[in-house]
Amino acid sequence: MLSGLAETIPGFEERTGQNQMATAVEKALREEEHLAVEAPCGVGKTFAYLLPAIRHAIENDTRVIVCTANIALQEQIISKDLPALAKAVQKPFRYELIKGIGNYLCLDRAQDLRHEEGRVTFDRHEKAQWKKISRWAEETRSGDVSDLPFEPAQGVWGRVKGIAEFCTGIECHHFDDCFAMEARRRLRDARIIVTNYHLFFAHLRLKAAAKKDVILPSYSAVICDEAHELADITREFFGLRLGTSSIYPLLRGANHYQLGQLSDRLKTASRAFFDEVDAFARSDSYKNRLRTPGYADGEALAEAVSEYRGLLSNLRKGCGGDREVDKIRKHDNVAEAYEETLSEFLRMPDENMVYWIQRNGGLSSRLIDPSEILKSSLFDQCTVIMTSATLAPFDLLQRETGATPVEMTTESPFHFPEQAQLIIPHMRNRPGAPGYLEEINEGIHYILKSLRGRTMCLFTSYRNLDACAQAAESTGIRILRQGDKPRTKLLEEFRTDPSSALFATASFWQGVDIPGEALSCLVIDKLPFLPPNDPLLDALQEKDPRAFLNFSLPKAVLALRQGFGRLIRSKTDRGVVVIFDHRLLSARYGRDFLRALPPCLVHRNLEELENFISA
Ligand code: SF4
Repeated sequence: MLSGLAETIPGFEERTGQNQMATAVEKALREEEHLAVEAPCGVGKTFAYLLPAIRHAIENDTRVIVCTANIALQEQIISKDLPALAKAVQKPFRYELIKGIGNYLCLDRAQDLRHEEGRVTFDRHEKAQWKKISRWAEETRSGDVSDLPFEPAQGVWGRVKGIAEFCTGIECHHFDDCFAMEARRRLRDARIIVTNYHLFFAHLRLKAAAKKDVILPSYSAVICDEAHELADITREFFGLRLGTSSIYPLLRGANHYQLGQLSDRLKTASRAFFDEVDAFARSDSYKNRLRTPGYADGEALAEAVSEYRGLLSNLRKGCGGDREVDKIRKHDNVAEAYEETLSEFLRMPDENMVYWIQRNGGLSSRLIDPSEILKSSLFDQCTVIMTSATLAPFDLLQRETGATPVEMTTESPFHFPEQAQLIIPHMRNRPGAPGYLEEINEGIHYILKSLRGRTMCLFTSYRNLDACAQAAESTGIRILRQGDKPRTKLLEEFRTDPSSALFATASFWQGVDIPGEALSCLVIDKLPFLPPNDPLLDALQEKDPRAFLNFSLPKAVLALRQGFGRLIRSKTDRGVVVIFDHRLLSARYGRDFLRALPPCLVHRNLEELENFISA
């Protein structure tokens, strides 16, 4: 199916797995059946789904949506893969990338900020950034934050970015010039639309409420890349959050309309409510999550918000201009969203939702079982292709999505027995036991000294990360630690400096692509089970006595496979994975992990590391 690509794409090599996947995607689109493909690193899965998707969209005069979880992959598809394929496809077609509304400058909010400039409490740095954004707003054609020549502070961008609750769309007097709306208008002519899961779910939610397409135009198929994240992203998207800063937009609205007393009441009531939430979180009554309402008294806060909405309503009745009516509606929309979220947390009405108090004192909720919502809003509506490097054995995917797709696993183009080895060192201590961290530190010390850097250490907690990174300073190797710099900068430095070592946690277990000798050894502290106090796990265990086998274990196996997958990124890569957790060999479930990892020799002695790397 992809054989013609070599003629137009320099360096294109035919790959069996890629061809098989492309054929399966083409068939699934033609026969309107859901498909799940596990395509390991090196298969070239983006071409394998993009080419059939383009042909399907052109031939059937339709659109295909491509959803991914990370912006780097979206940009690769838009700036590399689709332009390359456009040359190979005979007929011209359009493709577009659409981002969430928060990525675009909101002209209305920027105008408000200009009017309120004298009253805004920006520090010097923020003030300078706001001046630059204000000038940029006059000349930018996209209004996209990624086109700004600097990374704006959240305190500044947060004041001018688009906000779904605030946006009145076609009612807004900036509608014709609005950057976010213009980006949506461009989608009408596109055959392939690349986006992220959050925007896609925002579309599904609005479509369900409005019974028509709202953000995205109509489409006949959706391709979910990085589909191992689909269920968790759904859980998070349909959850809610409410914290101490959630009241700020309401305070700004109250101040805008010079409702000084009400602004004070809102502030005081919010503070009192979250003080009570905090006190409850510290009490013996709280364990892992909120189970029943009544943990804090939100009446005063609810009353203050209701009064604020009443005053906005009075103002609307008394004002004549369309612009002012629209502005009041925007502030009311924000207050309404706050009111609904507060009410949800006070009543906790949804049995399919887990509610908890975050470490910072904010309230959070998440869907427990996302399958029903995914089935009704996605799988019952169109053809869905799911793909990822880690989907098999598909049971978990089926349970979490409620779908029964055709399943397919493509072979890895890498020769793992020759390219990789796994070391599970002899350990005296189990993870978490006293002395366990010291043993890991000794091991990491040995590895860093032996390889003089070239190591990425992935941890399951910040506690382990901090302890080990600090101990590793004494090796003299340059230690790059997550949190010290932005992620892209850390990865760039690690990639270009082979004498460094990178220490990171959860977000680096996936989406990190470092081919070559800079990453010769991957250290994993322990099996990546969710912590026992995780609210979702706690709720699942209450509903399902087999939650360990049905959820915890397969999730941890997928996470370990994702982590392991960072090591070998090309046919010429060689490296060693070291896992400091002998439960892989001693626990009954250890076999599930080992069976799921790529086939490679397993050793128990760290000394094997040098033998393999220097061979
Ligand atoms: S349409 Fe929405 S995002 Fe655009 S300027 Fe108006 S409020 Fe802002």
